Amino acid sequence: MTARIRPDLESIPAYTPGRSNPGAVKLASNETTFGPLPTVAKAIAEAAELVNRYPDNGAGELRAAVARFHDVDIANVAVGCGSVALCQELVQITCAASTDEVLFAWRSFEAYPIVTQVGNARAVQVPLTDSYAHDFDAMAAAISEHTKLIFVCNPNNPTGTAYGRTEIERFLDAVPDHILVVLDEAYYEYLRVEDHPDGIEIGRGRPNVLVLRTFSKAYGLAGLRVGYAVGDPEVITALLKVHIPFSVNRLAQAAAVASLEAREELLDRTDKLIAERNRIREALQTAGYTVPPSEANFLWLPLGDRSVAYAEASADAGVLLRPYANDGVRVTAGDPHENDLFLAFATDPAVLARFLG
Ligand SMILES: *Cc1c(COP(=O)(O)O)cnc(C)c1O
Repeated sequence: MTARIRPDLESIPAYTPGRSNPGAVKLASNETTFGPLPTVAKAIAEAAELVNRYPDNGAGELRAAVARFHDVDIANVAVGCGSVALCQELVQITCAASTDEVLFAWRSFEAYPIVTQVGNARAVQVPLTDSYAHDFDAMAAAISEHTKLIFVCNPNNPTGTAYGRTEIERFLDAVPDHILVVLDEAYYEYLRVEDHPDGIEIGRGRPNVLVLRTFSKAYGLAGLRVGYAVGDPEVITALLKVHIPFSVNRLAQAAAVASLEAREELLDRTDKLIAERNRIREALQTAGYTVPPSEANFLWLPLGDRSVAYAEASADAGVLLRPYANDGVRVTAGDPHENDLFLAFATDPAVLARFLG
């Protein structure tokens, strides 16, 4: 007989690996196309010589480097096996009863509903505005006595929309102090909003605000799994309690420290990426697509119920995209030649007739 598993997990789709198409260009996972810098590769190689030893469970060196970088105390910093692990741990430290609610915009990061359900809590999803952005008024109105945690994804994955500091602060002012608000800034390095929304600055003096950043996107370490949280020491202490021991491995810690040291060089790449993102957007708009302005390393094509078919057609043309059933398709900005391959598909008259007609 098969062992008995929590029945509610049935509603979580089993993990299905993304479509792989050997030789295809992958614009589906918001990754950086560049490999690690030589200094980062060297740090990884050196750390690899010690993999017979457990890593530092307290990630002391990395947390100290993050603390220095942001001018906060080490007690304000936790690290995780990717910031997605921190998302799950945040549900674990805030939600205990099945009536506890986690509030977030929808569509937003796919991990939010999953970590909420895994944590036995209830997801409250507030639809985006007509401009594909968080509807902060509706989110504030959706706060209840059961709300324990709020995720704000800025810029929002998968739509790319972002708010400035003023709007974020206005929302935070509307949230009761006892509710933890997480500003998920996975794409922070791509933001060029004038009223710059740096969550770490916004969070100073607001102990119920916690900021998530990751080394997976602009820093190019998606394969090593490391992200971090900056927040109030009491919240950080709770995160350390539920942390899966040693889950941020030795290579990841070493690479993240080296990446912070090399950040000028790494972040130079973001300017080029942003230019590419803007070039793709303009070409798509000229061809007749609706493309909301993006502050991240990807673009959103709201193609509704044509989204899955669109991504299948692009895969057949050798370009892998990320469809979100009935909502849209997310296109990561890649290298110029990859983007050109995508644009050749996207602006093909037959494709335009089929999907925009
Ligand atoms: C990619 C992403 C993350 C985290 O990625 P990790 O690789 O787990 O650090 C977190 N939030 C959002 C919105 C993302 O898109």
